Amino acid sequence: MNHAMPMSPLGPVKMAITVDDLFLFHGSPMPQGYDSHITARGLTKAFKSHGAKGVYAFSNTAPTENNTDLLRVFDHWVEEGHHVANHTHHHASLNWVDAKSYIGDIERSAEIIEPWIAKAPKRCFRYCMDMWGDTQEKLEAVSAYLKSAAYTPVPISVGFHDARFVASYWRTLKADDKEGAAWMRRGYIDAALHELRLHCASARAVFGRDPVHIWLIHGTPIASDCLGEILDAFQAAGVEFVSLDEALADPMNADVPPRLSPEFLHQVEKWAIVKGVPVDDRPPSILADIEKLHPAPGESGAEVFRRMTSQLPGRLGATVMPFPLADCQRG
Ligand SMILES: [Zn+2]
Repeated sequence: MNHAMPMSPLGPVKMAITVDDLFLFHGSPMPQGYDSHITARGLTKAFKSHGAKGVYAFSNTAPTENNTDLLRVFDHWVEEGHHVANHTHHHASLNWVDAKSYIGDIERSAEIIEPWIAKAPKRCFRYCMDMWGDTQEKLEAVSAYLKSAAYTPVPISVGFHDARFVASYWRTLKADDKEGAAWMRRGYIDAALHELRLHCASARAVFGRDPVHIWLIHGTPIASDCLGEILDAFQAAGVEFVSLDEALADPMNADVPPRLSPEFLHQVEKWAIVKGVPVDDRPPSILADIEKLHPAPGESGAEVFRRMTSQLPGRLGATVMPFPLADCQRG
């Protein structure tokens, strides 16, 4: 893959970096030699060497229940000049719960993270899985709550399915398969580049210009190992890192696409559907390939996801369901 090819024929592409889930998720496996402190330090080091400042981190807080030391990760984040934001306590999709439970879960997380949120220039919130409500009633109730609590909801315009690497990277490191882990890191970096090119092109097809993007990477061990190389490649391809404020001022992000989106879709594709522009949002094929490395009972990505969501019915009254696919996501 030619990483240095310009990201856009129209000139530099502006992008705000955001990080989700610095503590991963309830029940996520962590490879030996890694923890959330090490991961966060890997990320902030990469930001510093690439001039990326004021990066907002949106983290679910359920993992801190049994390990309050995790909250020291936020101290490091803020000391490095970055910001903390709300992402609910349990990380349930709004598709799975009613508005009241979802709002209660935002408030529960706020009780834990308010000291760090108070230090941020803006009170930000990110919907789990970027899902803003699968019914009009939920969409209106949660957005009205966010407004009343002075939160700015922050969409994602480009991700790269990076959380899907958590289980397979853990299995591969556990098997001490150095070659497999190196192959996975190359594939992960390629996926980041490929997905940014794909979604930037889709955004140009929708808007006729390069909007200011909001890029998402999760706080995973593989992110910590690869972010420096990804940011090198982004800059070589003409990407400029800007503040979240600048990205939020772009109408693509400032306006809410007028459509209920029960699918796992980000902002570019939501607008593409609203405006009737055909785009390609099929997941990269590497997501299937990485599951072939070191398979073991109970250790697949799907099984780890089931464990991560296993406490949601009991704690939030959630009904965990698969997400429907939009036409642009079908093969
Ligand atoms: Zn998340």
